[in-house]
Amino acid sequence: MEDVKAASRSLRGALSQELTDETPAFSADSGHLLKFHGIYQQDDRDVRRERTRSGHEPDHIFMVRASVPGGALSATQWLAIDRLADTVADGTFRLTSRGGIQLHFARKEGLAPLIRSLDEHLVTTLAACGDVVRNIVACPAPLADSRQKVLLDLAQRLAVRFRPRTRAYYEVWIDGEPALSAAEAEPATDLEPLYGTTYLPRKFKIGLAWPGDGCTDLFSHDLGLVPITGTDGADGFAVLVGGGLGATHARPDDTFPRLADLLGWVPAEAVEDLAEAVVLAYRDLGDREDRKRARLKYVLEDIGVAAFRREVEARLGARLAPAPALPPWQAHDHLGWHSQDDGRWFLGVPVPSGRVTGAWRAALAEVVERHRTDLRVTPRQDVLLTGIDDAERTAVEAVFRRHGVALAGDLAPVRRLAMACPALPTCGQALAEAERVAPDVLSVMEGELGRRGLSGLDLHVRMTGCPNGCARPYTAEIGIVGRSKTGYDVHLGGAPGGDRLARPAARGVKLADLPSVLGPWFDRFATEREPGESFGDFVHRTGSLA
Ligand code: SF4
Repeated sequence: MEDVKAASRSLRGALSQELTDETPAFSADSGHLLKFHGIYQQDDRDVRRERTRSGHEPDHIFMVRASVPGGALSATQWLAIDRLADTVADGTFRLTSRGGIQLHFARKEGLAPLIRSLDEHLVTTLAACGDVVRNIVACPAPLADSRQKVLLDLAQRLAVRFRPRTRAYYEVWIDGEPALSAAEAEPATDLEPLYGTTYLPRKFKIGLAWPGDGCTDLFSHDLGLVPITGTDGADGFAVLVGGGLGATHARPDDTFPRLADLLGWVPAEAVEDLAEAVVLAYRDLGDREDRKRARLKYVLEDIGVAAFRREVEARLGARLAPAPALPPWQAHDHLGWHSQDDGRWFLGVPVPSGRVTGAWRAALAEVVERHRTDLRVTPRQDVLLTGIDDAERTAVEAVFRRHGVALAGDLAPVRRLAMACPALPTCGQALAEAERVAPDVLSVMEGELGRRGLSGLDLHVRMTGCPNGCARPYTAEIGIVGRSKTGYDVHLGGAPGGDRLARPAARGVKLADLPSVLGPWFDRFATEREPGESFGDFVHRTGSLA
């Protein structure tokens, strides 16, 4: 990967040439570079075996991910994406666990029209994947006290600051013409002052959250920023570093999920420079030999917080102040109706596994079209419809009712709060199903809870098809992680606010056996919990897990 990046002439490689050849797929090297442009080359895994058996090459498909800083989309942008779902994807699109958008089942010939159309609507896929700073996540809620603008503005400024400077994106997808350097009539390269020619060792995730608001799972990010008054009374940000949830089944000793450490505090005017200093320290110190251990969390694990702080301070040219104490973290999903800062309302709509399809897609498009609502994609794969006048609320709700879409109050909490990654059939990493079996898993869970009088329990269940952890199962109260085609590891006891990891409770469990694993815990919880105690806290307090 390091060689491919270095030789790519600022992420160009042979993308332009291969895009227009007759084949349905790109070469392996180009496949690596595509990620920096927001594209994953995949194949339809439902038909992989049959095609292999019959001597056919894989059915090549592409996932295209848009970066949406802070999850903020205008009505026009949403409707453009909605149209693209039909013209170049599989009639659906997906709200991601980082507040972005993904389209699946695109074909090679549809990529350039797709990206051009997004670009016309000021949505980019550049740096949505790849070894760069990824989409900046922020609390999406336009809360009644105007606070959200602070985070959204910062998310958008950081997105611009960390976006690669290469013009390759425009040459390949927008203009269709490779730029030539004037001197030698050779393909151009661009200066990447921050990233250099090899970009980052791997991906880098930034999250922004209000103190105590766990809606972004802040401790799972490489860099977390929390606006909070410093010990000197000045405005500023607490800085957390080194979170990350991916692991590798085959390497349980040296790959693992990890929560971020508190690094210090910076005044508000220094926060963007601080973010850059952290990214630069990671660029320089991250492991470029072993991609399984290339994330920032392993730098923190290897050299410790104090040494990493010195590295950041050296690049920042200033000392970090000690961070003030942060309040306890709580689960917020921002679903349902809430008043916002301008007297209007926002409605948080649960979208199962973030998949905008069928009735959800139709209802959301109708409301957005008719009421011109701006939107916020949440880091929990849901969507907030914003700027709704009081007088419009009944009509908006009526649209969802007419389409048969359940709103937050209609759902059992366990269903409302659940998350699942796409997994099969699109994700090349998937070892097991996730999104497609999640509804059944949740039905079983609802039954088990109901039998014990726990139907109203706020219970966070998250499911992934592999240990990469895209739906953040390791911070859930119940995390279900694919290990093999039919076996899942069960992790229990994460904190609802995302500031404590779940611990392994069972390995290689078949979905049919989940009740026998969870039932005894639910039994004990029903009779032994303390008033107001969450399931995750109960397991943590009473459990004897590994
Ligand atoms: Fe794919 Fe694994 Fe991420 Fe799920 S968690 S989307 S299976 S990489």
